[in-house]
Amino acid sequence: MAKRTFNKEFFIRSVKYNVRTLFRKEIEEATEQQIFQAVGYAVKDAIMDAWIATQKEYEKSDPKIVYYMSMEFLMGRALGNNLINLTFYDEVKEALEEIGLDLNMIEDQEPDAALGNGGLGRLAACFMDSLATLGYAAYGCGIRYRYGMFKQQIVDGYQVEVPDMWLKNGNPFELRRPEYAKTVKFGGYVRIENHNGKNVFIQEGYQSVLAVPVDLPIVGYGNNVINTLRIWDAEAVNSFELDRFDKGEYEKAVEQENLARNLVEVLYPNDNHMAGKELRLKQQYFFVSASVQEAIAKYKKNHSDIRKFYEKATFQLNDTHPTVAVAELMRILMDEEGLEWDEAWDVTTKTCAYTNHTIMAEALEKWPIELFSRLLPRIYQIVEEINRRFVIEIQKQYPNNYEKVKKMAIIMDGQVKMAHLAIVAGYSVNGVAKLHTEILKKRELKDFYEMMPQKFNNKTNGITQRRFLLHGNPLLAKWVTEHVGDEWITDLPRIKGLAVYVDDEKAQHEFMNIKYQNKVRLAKYIKEHNGIDVDPRSIFDVQVKRLHEYKRQLMNILHVMYLYNQIKEHPEKDFYPRTFIFGAKAAAGYMRAKLTIKLINSVADVVNNDASINGKLKVVFIEDYRVSNAEWIFAAADVSEQISTASKEASGTGNMKFMLNGAVTLGTMDGANVEIVEEVGEENAFIFGMSADEVIDLESKGGYDPSQLFNTDQEIRHVLMQLINGEYAPNDPERFRELYNALLIDGGYNRPDPYFILKDFRSYADAQRRVEEAYRDEKRWAKMAMLNVAHSGKFTSDRTIQEYVDDIWKLDKVTVKLEEEA
Ligand SMILES: *Cc1c(COP(=O)(O)O)cnc(C)c1O
Repeated sequence: MAKRTFNKEFFIRSVKYNVRTLFRKEIEEATEQQIFQAVGYAVKDAIMDAWIATQKEYEKSDPKIVYYMSMEFLMGRALGNNLINLTFYDEVKEALEEIGLDLNMIEDQEPDAALGNGGLGRLAACFMDSLATLGYAAYGCGIRYRYGMFKQQIVDGYQVEVPDMWLKNGNPFELRRPEYAKTVKFGGYVRIENHNGKNVFIQEGYQSVLAVPVDLPIVGYGNNVINTLRIWDAEAVNSFELDRFDKGEYEKAVEQENLARNLVEVLYPNDNHMAGKELRLKQQYFFVSASVQEAIAKYKKNHSDIRKFYEKATFQLNDTHPTVAVAELMRILMDEEGLEWDEAWDVTTKTCAYTNHTIMAEALEKWPIELFSRLLPRIYQIVEEINRRFVIEIQKQYPNNYEKVKKMAIIMDGQVKMAHLAIVAGYSVNGVAKLHTEILKKRELKDFYEMMPQKFNNKTNGITQRRFLLHGNPLLAKWVTEHVGDEWITDLPRIKGLAVYVDDEKAQHEFMNIKYQNKVRLAKYIKEHNGIDVDPRSIFDVQVKRLHEYKRQLMNILHVMYLYNQIKEHPEKDFYPRTFIFGAKAAAGYMRAKLTIKLINSVADVVNNDASINGKLKVVFIEDYRVSNAEWIFAAADVSEQISTASKEASGTGNMKFMLNGAVTLGTMDGANVEIVEEVGEENAFIFGMSADEVIDLESKGGYDPSQLFNTDQEIRHVLMQLINGEYAPNDPERFRELYNALLIDGGYNRPDPYFILKDFRSYADAQRRVEEAYRDEKRWAKMAMLNVAHSGKFTSDRTIQEYVDDIWKLDKVTVKLEEEA
């Protein structure tokens, strides 16, 4: 890998200069935040040459570009990652030490760019990293939310949401590009004029907003490629020139001002759930319209035939959130570029591709016609016409079969179904893990699959090893490199070379020692943030992910309650010390999820303060789970809890990060867990519970009756009774009745325990027992954990992106040379 030359003296001078010009201070007087800013600007400077060179190379070689459209990019911190990918990390660390500065402290000053909820947004971030590293021309297209994902505080055991003011000190890495601003129009009405026999559509009476691009550099690893994440900010079109306005114009100016102010204010904090709010649809059209306009403008700079747009550009829609891109592209091609419908449709259906992320009914995007047509009148006309023509297609293929129309139409029962629009107008529909894609083809999207099987394909998700091993776990990264060389950094399957060491006692010892060091690092973090002492020799059993009923954090904490009962009832029994670590944000309005957080913290309070159990059991809830602390958590985990109700987790990516860091999966046969087990072998994971088929079968029968279990299994009953007898809420015994009722009476979908927590409980507890047994045998455990690392090669996002390129996007690879090397 070409390592770029790093000029230490120049860098130090640059940092000192920045502190002076930005803050009128010498280094010794600057605050830690100011030093971060100064170092950040120095790093952006170091990126700039390659960023310009990449742009020039793209203009010269004119490669096909992928526009990755996503409402979310969960980037985390940039400084450390940029240094890693510039291959400067160690040099910069040393240089800073020379002037008395600690890079870790500086990194810690950076707020996470939390422009996403969870897995979907982090996937987009990993994809950006892989695209740049593999040398593909790509733009990430998104929104520059002023407030990203809320900060979570735990107050008295409850989640409290605090605004995330991530931009309050400015962002040294961003570059505002007002010269590329675009206008986006909302509302009004469409007037149709006939010009020489041709209908011309003119939107009038609308409000408009200025979309201003803000660029963030995406540094490829060691290859001089710097791609761009373009996030759009909103500004009012009119600045106030009061004397120019009559009353009507004045009110309109105020409205436009307010629209611009509200539009990009905040990220909706729902994961796998549709909010259905007008502002959300506005956000979607805002960033999509600006991005499509930009893609067309870029194409037209060097090409005259818009009918061949798809040869140089492709749009990947990350879930249905950006699906209005389909109609926006049609609108521009027809209304602004003068194409006929058929010509525009040909271009659109060769440009747009859709990734499905979930089959959960409550996550599917459906917009009421009234709202959609009022906000986007011209776009709605186009969607109506797409639907009209598609319904004719259905009727041709399935004559007299109204069921098919009802199931597949884009507009039905007063709603616009965004997934149907994306499938009909896209040239590719992909699921995100094998099992998920099979469920799409066989069940959820069966009718579409039968009509257009060639569109469907699988792209199992992945993660970037540059952030989640090289940056997050430097001790293990170094050890891996010592054993298999450093090619794994850009070719993760090379990590398989570790397999020859799994029976080597020295290697086992070193490996377990690194895990121990990482557990000590996390234990310190926990001591600082939670005030809880945890023993790094105990088993670190970790479940970190968004809080959602289908992810079954409730099953995990019920099992902790069960273990605690066991220890209390059988103090003589040998029990291997365990630390159960949770981290999860709940959507602000998701009451049952928030109550689960309170239960976890209430159990933690009781268990952690019970001197009689000799610290054998500890429960920790890590506040404000986010990318930056996630990196440390994965590095320290022994057990990776991936316990979703089978069929509900489309892929999961947390599972992959744990595996890469040598944690063993305790999970259901769901999402990518299936493929993890396929790679590492069932004997190197702890698998339990119902299969996806069993779950789907039982659901179609209306669920099951958990009262059998409640009446016959004394230990399960005991745990459930503790939800309503005040065991964990002495001042308010009713506090957790809602959870009890959800499990035994009605948990939604008109049935008890819709996520089969009690149904899977015994099988889960047995898997947990097997975990303990395996951990007692240190050699066996070391071997299992090492085999997980060794077999994690498939789960790099480099592999995922290469598959997208080969099967969907067909991009050209680009190389960038810098002047200094030429
Ligand atoms: C990877 C990641 C996720 C996704 O985790 P899952 O276990 O796949 O749901 C969510 N949040 C953060 C911060 C992550 O890094």
